[in-house]
Amino acid sequence: MTLEELDRSYLWHPFTPMREWLAEPPLVIERADGNELIDTQGRRYLDGVSSLWVNVHGHAHPAISAAIAEQLAKVAHSTLLGLASTPSILLAQKLVAIAPPGLARVFFSDSGSTAVEVALKIAFQFQQLRGLSRRVKFLALRNAYHGDTIGSVSLGGIDTFHRIFQPLLFHTLHVSPTIDELHQAFADHGHELAAFVLEPLVQGAAGMLLSPPGFLREARSLCCKHDVLLVADEVATGFGRTGTMFACQQEGVAPDLLALAKGLSGGYLPVAATMVSDVVFRQFLGLREERLTFFHGHSFGGNALGCAAALASLDLFEREQTLANLPPKIATLRARLNQKIAHLPHVFEIRQKGLMVGIELRRSDSQPYSPEDAIGARVCRIVRRHGVILRPLGSVVVLMPPLSITVDQIDRLVDATAAAIVEAASEPSPAHSVPLSPPSQPRPAPLRGIFLVGTDTGVGKTTVAVGLLALARARGLAPVPFKPVETGAAPDPEDALRLRCAAARSDLAREIICPYAFSPPVAPALAAEQASTRLTLSELLAAARRAAAFGDFLLVESAGGVLSPYSEDLTAADLAAALGLPVLLVARNALGTINHSALAIAELRRRHLPLTGVLFVDTTAASTPDRAHNPRLVRALTGVPVLGTLPFLPHPTPDGIAAALRLNLDVDLLLPTLR
Ligand SMILES: *Cc1c(COP(=O)(O)O)cnc(C)c1O
Repeated sequence: MTLEELDRSYLWHPFTPMREWLAEPPLVIERADGNELIDTQGRRYLDGVSSLWVNVHGHAHPAISAAIAEQLAKVAHSTLLGLASTPSILLAQKLVAIAPPGLARVFFSDSGSTAVEVALKIAFQFQQLRGLSRRVKFLALRNAYHGDTIGSVSLGGIDTFHRIFQPLLFHTLHVSPTIDELHQAFADHGHELAAFVLEPLVQGAAGMLLSPPGFLREARSLCCKHDVLLVADEVATGFGRTGTMFACQQEGVAPDLLALAKGLSGGYLPVAATMVSDVVFRQFLGLREERLTFFHGHSFGGNALGCAAALASLDLFEREQTLANLPPKIATLRARLNQKIAHLPHVFEIRQKGLMVGIELRRSDSQPYSPEDAIGARVCRIVRRHGVILRPLGSVVVLMPPLSITVDQIDRLVDATAAAIVEAASEPSPAHSVPLSPPSQPRPAPLRGIFLVGTDTGVGKTTVAVGLLALARARGLAPVPFKPVETGAAPDPEDALRLRCAAARSDLAREIICPYAFSPPVAPALAAEQASTRLTLSELLAAARRAAAFGDFLLVESAGGVLSPYSEDLTAADLAAALGLPVLLVARNALGTINHSALAIAELRRRHLPLTGVLFVDTTAASTPDRAHNPRLVRALTGVPVLGTLPFLPHPTPDGIAAALRLNLDVDLLLPTLR
């Protein structure tokens, strides 16, 4: 296999829709040289986003490579738990020397997320230790991004990344970056805050959003006034990106805690630091029995190779006068963006701070692009043909080159980006232009299975489903039950668990079989609403496909009747249509069923859904005079095949129901796919 094939066989890429990834051969980077990345074919690309915002002085810089090699000859790593190490000591001293005043201690970890996580826990414990036990909340900026661990995700506010984890997160207050809102937030909540966490000047992953001038200074003064800790997350903005070593310095602000990562090692190795003021640190000093210790640490915190790389990078800042060389680069970048990109169609706004740039694209009517347009991703795909690597944030094209970029390379970067924006904006709608499957692999086969819907709730649908699963198994199939939503789950979705049992699929997680379980015994739409969520067709379809992958026959049991709602604009019939499975209508064999069945059939027909037939269920033992005649009348009224009647079973086991179905129904008519 080629490297490209091996990647697609074995890797799961971060922040990557993997199905699309698998549809195209990946670009495999083999080497790099300064500000350029080189692929396995020897093609060179300008690294326009510093390898996701980390690289500072260019790749394969001899000074950093040598420092790492030199350290490697001594020791690669020794722990900071109970031992000290030379490079971590020297790096801590250096960081304290260059950081905003007052930051006096360094706690090492290995990523931006852990640096933030450490800051959160220190801030929380600090408030507890000094007896302010009610200061347990955090304030963050709207659309915040502070990393991917659960604590840092709790601070976050980017719906696409964070929404699904909502139940796992601690509650965080969010504020828009305006001075007025900030005052209000502190007036309302100042007394209960442990800390205010923010990215100073630029909210990077939020889309390169710039905070208004003076906002950071105001935050500092409000935190002082309300005795709240200020945590600056400079994971992205640190190490020169905004034009100064740290963004905080542009407003003369010193935070109480400072999170650093990305550029810390020059972008060579995973090193992170949480810097802490002396006041905060002193709170943790005390006798062991006072239980003041900060019990936190990562195996590779203070890694010797990483610290050596960081020391070399900081040394380069001095020797190469990196910061002093930035102003002309920043000015050139600003001028070129104005000349070559600002006027292009679909360019809504350009936001720049130092060498951090976000180019926001909008539709021609100035409305935001929808995520399905993948406009940013398309620009970035095209720009590769122009020899540049970029990575977007939704519809924002990000430029964030290494600080070592030259003026000539800035021209190349902007020219290529301009060309790619023009090309992407004139492409037809992406939904059809992007192949969703690799040419070597066929599109996913159409689903095989059946869609069970009732004429009403409580008509015996689950009983029928249980029997069908047992039948399918008896025929050598691997059926997978799928009940997208179960309400009245208190606390377990009993029906879904019965289905799993009938299918003998205890290996399948409940969430595969029943992704949404709600306790109120009400319609799915209402139950979802009460749980402050909203079911969407795309989520339900994705869940169905996920379930289908576990077997060869998907048995979908929808909620209630044909028009039972999953949301205000989504019914069981919509789901059936989208899945494209044959539909089996289950009807209660009792008074009223003729009308119910005929109405349900009329609606299924109106939507051109493939109706296999109607199956009646005797849901009670007591016989009524109409029972013998209902099926015949429904058939005559609607012309739809009636498969038969499942008699009442006092003890309905899967095999018992299957036997009764075999006896009373034309099973082959029911399940042609089962043969
Ligand atoms: C990237 C980033 C993080 C997370 O850093 P990782 O090293 O990816 O865990 C945290 N905060 C900000 C502002 C970032 O840009």
